[in-house]
Amino acid sequence: SARPVAGRVAVVTGASSGIGEASAERLAELGAVVVVLARRAERLDDLVDRIEKNGGQALALAVDVTDAAAVRAAADRVAAELGGADLLFNNAGVMLPAPVEELATDQWQRQIDLNVSGLMNVIGAFIPQLVEAARERGVADLINTSSIAAQNIFPTFAVYSATKAYVTHLSRHLRAELGAKKVRVSVIEPGIVGTELQSHVTDEGALAWLEGSKQTMEWLTPQDVAQTVGFVASLPPRANLQQVTIMPTGQP
Ligand code: NDP
Repeated sequence: SARPVAGRVAVVTGASSGIGEASAERLAELGAVVVVLARRAERLDDLVDRIEKNGGQALALAVDVTDAAAVRAAADRVAAELGGADLLFNNAGVMLPAPVEELATDQWQRQIDLNVSGLMNVIGAFIPQLVEAARERGVADLINTSSIAAQNIFPTFAVYSATKAYVTHLSRHLRAELGAKKVRVSVIEPGIVGTELQSHVTDEGALAWLEGSKQTMEWLTPQDVAQTVGFVASLPPRANLQQVTIMPTGQP
């Protein structure tokens, strides 16, 4: 059908910019009711307006995913107002490369708090809804955003890459565990995508490397990844795209 995710309730974290924002729009376009979650309420409200103007349905929840209690409260609202989620795009993340010897321990911690602990808070809060939806409707989706950094080696990206290796490995385990319950688990590993991610980078070497990369490749757009998310969710319930690597064509 033209609207393969029609009637589904999709929760998207990190929806106030970049990949999450584009994916929320895409899932709404494919017919899902979309719950958009991030900290910046104003950005989320604008996104909801845009989705509704295009004929979709969306709900904004301003939540810091590192706050486990706030995430649980958000899940309770999704259950009460929309009957629970059957698709979770667990996507919020931050990338702060730096030479390890600089001991940027606050940046190490921010990445671990969001990319690992925040991701787990969201899984913990929404897994019961996904399992319940799969039991009732025969399919549910957990899609986690990792990175090619989970597989490839980039000096100064050690902590970020390790958080993403966690996301990829966790996803494979959860897929094996939840598949029997009809919950599909997928992990998306993008190469460089032009988003706000790069704007948080303070390390001069990493900034120069990112900027220089534009000479040899055209970066992906958030919409490129959003299209992939829509594809993963649109497969027939028997088919689980376990892992997707999407790269700029020119990225080695
Ligand atoms: P953006 O910085 O544009 O998006 C990050 C999103 O996460 C924002 O919506 C931000 O919103 C949200 N966020 C940050 N902190 C929190 C928090 N504590 N609680 C809730 N939401 C939070 O970057 P991208 O779109 O690029 O990143 C999305 C994912 O893609 C990340 O996991 C990233 O690691 C991954 N990725 C990105 C690549 C790239 O090149 N861009 C490549 C590979 C992977 P707010 O500030 O409003 O909370």
